[in-house]
Amino acid sequence: EAKEAGRSTYRFYTAEQTRISRERFELESGLRRAIERKELQLYYQPQANCRGSNLTGVEALVRWLHPERGLIPPDRFIPLAEDIGLIGALGDWVLNEACRQAREWELAGAPLRVAVNLSAQQVSQGQLFETVSTALTRSGVSPGLLELEITEGHVLKRVEQCIEVLHRVKSLGVTLAIDDFGIGYSSLSYLKRLPVDRLKIDRSFVEGLPGDADDDAIVATILAMAQNLGLEVIAEGVETAEQLAHLAATHCQEYQGYLLGRPMPANELERWRDAHSARPTA
Ligand code: C2E
Ligand code: MG
Ligand code: MG
Ligand code: MG
Repeated sequence: EAKEAGRSTYRFYTAEQTRISRERFELESGLRRAIERKELQLYYQPQANCRGSNLTGVEALVRWLHPERGLIPPDRFIPLAEDIGLIGALGDWVLNEACRQAREWELAGAPLRVAVNLSAQQVSQGQLFETVSTALTRSGVSPGLLELEITEGHVLKRVEQCIEVLHRVKSLGVTLAIDDFGIGYSSLSYLKRLPVDRLKIDRSFVEGLPGDADDDAIVATILAMAQNLGLEVIAEGVETAEQLAHLAATHCQEYQGYLLGRPMPANELERWRDAHSARPTA
């Protein structure tokens, strides 16, 4: 009897496995062609000062506009791109497109800092310096307008190598932010050795503000530490006016989240920006 149950479980499992691997296979082959077919698109989410809400920059977030499946979020294809060795090409495309757009805004007389997410493999693969320097040269954008976001996890795998390459990349004049800060194994010693400009407080800690004692304490600790180390702080995932008021009162410099604006295509962001700057600030 147990054998029977085991067998039917097995059968169910294989059917599900088959479905998953078929879907994965389809996405895989589609992803390989997505770049040349121009199916990838960058969305831009605004970032602003906690006090006054002046626009300070944007984060570039990649989307895949699949011909049949519609808009696919990055969490569903970035890990896949890493698995099949496509993250190099995809990352190059993102970097070049973000720099091109940043240069366009710069030339239009409305420069905007553009933050680009790097994947772990991009940081550890040894071509990061060339990739970034090529994207800067090709676009002609002022290096100070480009910010690179890495997560703590990226660095921890090969600490020495990453610290070295990140110093070289920083020498190009770009800025560096630690994304999803607080959920990794934050070690003060490596933070001191990294050429970091900004910490991005992970959304999970912003969620409970104000009121959740743990989140309050964690955010206060990150802000105090950042101040001591001379780092800027931006809070991500800010959705309510109460969260923003708490962050402003505790001297967090910048915020990003649905309260300010959703990620949007470049032309929409331009319209959003015009409307936003015309708005009286609090
Ligand atoms: P992330 O870098 O931490 O980006 C923030 C994510 O939170 C984005 O999801 C954004 O849309 C979402 N978000 C922003 N504000 C709010 C809010 O107020 N509430 C909530 N619930 N969510 C908010 P998205 O665009 O789906 O990106 C997910 C992740 O995929 C990113 O997390 C990043 O790790 C990765 N990613 C995105 N674009 C790229 C890329 O070009 N290259 C690489 N390597 N990774 C990317
Ligand atoms: Mg990010
Ligand atoms: Mg983040
Ligand atoms: Mg996050």
